[in-house]
Amino acid sequence: LGTSLRSSLDTLQGKTRLDEDDVEEIVKEIQRSLLSADVDVSLVMDLSDSIETRALEEEPPGGTTARDHVLKIVYEEMVELVGDSTALPLEPQTILLAGLQGSGKTTSAAKMAWWFSTKGLRPAVIQTDTFRPGAYDQAEQMADRAEVDFYGDPDADDPVEIAREGMEATADADVRIVDTAGRHALEDDLIAEIEEIEREVDPDRSLLVLDAAIGQGAKEQARQFEESIGIDGVVITKLDGTAKGGGALTAVNETGSSIAFLGSGETVQDIERFEPSGFISRLLGMGDLKQLSERVERAMQETQEEDDDWDPEDMLEGNFTLKDMKKQMDAMNRMGPLDQVMDMIPGLGGGMMDQLPDDAMDVTQDRMRKFERIMDSMTDEELENPRVVGQERTRRIARGSGTDEETVRQLLEQHSMMERTIEQFQGMGEGDMQRMMKK
Ligand code: GDP
Ligand code: MG
Repeated sequence: LGTSLRSSLDTLQGKTRLDEDDVEEIVKEIQRSLLSADVDVSLVMDLSDSIETRALEEEPPGGTTARDHVLKIVYEEMVELVGDSTALPLEPQTILLAGLQGSGKTTSAAKMAWWFSTKGLRPAVIQTDTFRPGAYDQAEQMADRAEVDFYGDPDADDPVEIAREGMEATADADVRIVDTAGRHALEDDLIAEIEEIEREVDPDRSLLVLDAAIGQGAKEQARQFEESIGIDGVVITKLDGTAKGGGALTAVNETGSSIAFLGSGETVQDIERFEPSGFISRLLGMGDLKQLSERVERAMQETQEEDDDWDPEDMLEGNFTLKDMKKQMDAMNRMGPLDQVMDMIPGLGGGMMDQLPDDAMDVTQDRMRKFERIMDSMTDEELENPRVVGQERTRRIARGSGTDEETVRQLLEQHSMMERTIEQFQGMGEGDMQRMMKK
């Protein structure tokens, strides 16, 4: 998967504008990744539509390649899809956990208690499961490992009674986490039981615990629990396995809630607060899109702030000076070192880099830096009209910039090469040019 998404992105290399085929190709690859991560078909289709529309309608801003631009759109739309993490104020509260048997409620209760304890709060776990043999021992052991208060009653058989007593017994705690029983499937008695517990403990929030491997089943569960107790957030467990947890998005969508925590192991520390970017990268099987997206954003902003008077299209009128060339290079530099930018593009880094000689990237970077220093050593006159730079000035500039005459000549050559290309554009009619630019 990663490979085909990478190769469709490769075809965008060097393009400044996307055509419909490019966008369709990329959207198809994203659909494939998301569907195999168990994201619901209709959610995938909605997402594809938004990405397609934006990628075709929005212009990639100056200094941004088509590929970076489309990745940024993909990231933003994915953030929209997965949403922000469930708000969890660090204050006294009661949290009720719901979910089917084996989804990871008891484990998550201890994990969350541990998490709150690291935030300086005093948590307690209340175990109300009288259905599953061994539930009490398991919960007590885990609370012990998390070093948090615990209440349960191995001899009682009324979960609501246990909940009531548990609330009293843990009066010293700030955060009470109420664990409940599950069943293999949604049954009326399970629903009735959790409704009663909910009335008894009056939780500040109720979280639905879902195994990452859940697929289509998420919808019905989410609907039922939402109806009976109201769901404020989702906990996705077992993300340390192969499942990517896309099914949980169905539950989020169904309950109009968000994701609160991710569980990724069997110990009490294997928990993290949900954070969109890592989850998105995981769903797409790609590298860190967030960082890239932020870089593109920053480069755009700075280009706008600093060069309000500079429009790349101005190059096509008037002369292409060294100043124009410098601005182009600046825009590229603001994206960060080229190889880092490429590394951040999921998978791309590896693939592309392998095809280049080991130090090819360094040389380019190194040369860019030298070019910049050289331009800093040039006068305004020389920058506006590089033709005045003869042998003597070349020597002065090389010395002033701490480079050598050869590099100064290379810069001047590169400039005149670009200048010739642009003059060719200028020689063409407006219509020809627009057509070429779109390619
Ligand atoms: P409950 O029935 O909903 O209370 O589920 P449990 O908390 O008892 O978990 C069921 C099984 O899943 C147990 O064997 C847990 O150790 C395991 N489990 C829970 N969360 C995770 C997780 O994030 N990763 C892994 N690998 N196992 C988990
Ligand atoms: Mg349990």
